[in-house]
Amino acid sequence: MKRIKLADMTWMEFDARVRDENPIVLLPVGSTEQHGPHLPLSTDVILPEAVSMLVAEALGAIVMPAVPFGYKSQPKTGGGNHFPGTISLDASTLIAVLRDVVNELARHGVRKVVLMDGHMENQWFITEAIDLALRDQRREGITDLRVVKLGYWEFINAETEAVLFPDGLLSWALEHAAVMETSVMLHLRPDLVRADAIPNNPPADFPLYDIFPFDLAPIPPDGVLSSPASATAEKGRHVLGQVVPDIVSALGKAFA
Ligand SMILES: [Zn+2]
Repeated sequence: MKRIKLADMTWMEFDARVRDENPIVLLPVGSTEQHGPHLPLSTDVILPEAVSMLVAEALGAIVMPAVPFGYKSQPKTGGGNHFPGTISLDASTLIAVLRDVVNELARHGVRKVVLMDGHMENQWFITEAIDLALRDQRREGITDLRVVKLGYWEFINAETEAVLFPDGLLSWALEHAAVMETSVMLHLRPDLVRADAIPNNPPADFPLYDIFPFDLAPIPPDGVLSSPASATAEKGRHVLGQVVPDIVSALGKAFA
């Protein structure tokens, strides 16, 4: 049996896979962040991990243990870092962790790495970690390492967007703990969704600037930035049914 999770392999199994197959290795990068009164703090870990597993099944790839912490939650994209249970890293820490992990994979012979983001705030720090790891590897004389960075939600196409938001999408930033994440969680992990606590409030209305320390006034007190009331498991199934094959074919091209 071909295992998908690196954590379930022995070192010899992992080594043989790397030598024989030059496999793609996926690293889900999440966050431990409030997701309203209805979703668990691990939502941004569960979703990229699930997408990574499905993509890996199709590609014969390997999935690493997810990084469970991300960059600090921001008011306009995650409600802000002040909510209890939101456990975040400084940017320099996140960059250092990801850089080390990519360098470790390269040291063991992996040449195709995917950083699968599950938390919007991570994105530029993932870019920086990849850039620094590639620089490290060039200094080691390794020039054939390829690293792909992607946010799974960016693969949602217009057709799926119309299924999710028949009345039109407000903005992806305000989708925090809203229709998309709630729908995919209802599909994947209904046991973790507090269905009777799904709120239905109007979208948050933020100023065009950012002010520090955060002004809490425009942040919805329950941490949900737009209404998840129209979320369904069927919408969640549709999202994965479209996004997973599209990521599979994109990675096929990226590593061709
Ligand atoms: Zn999220």
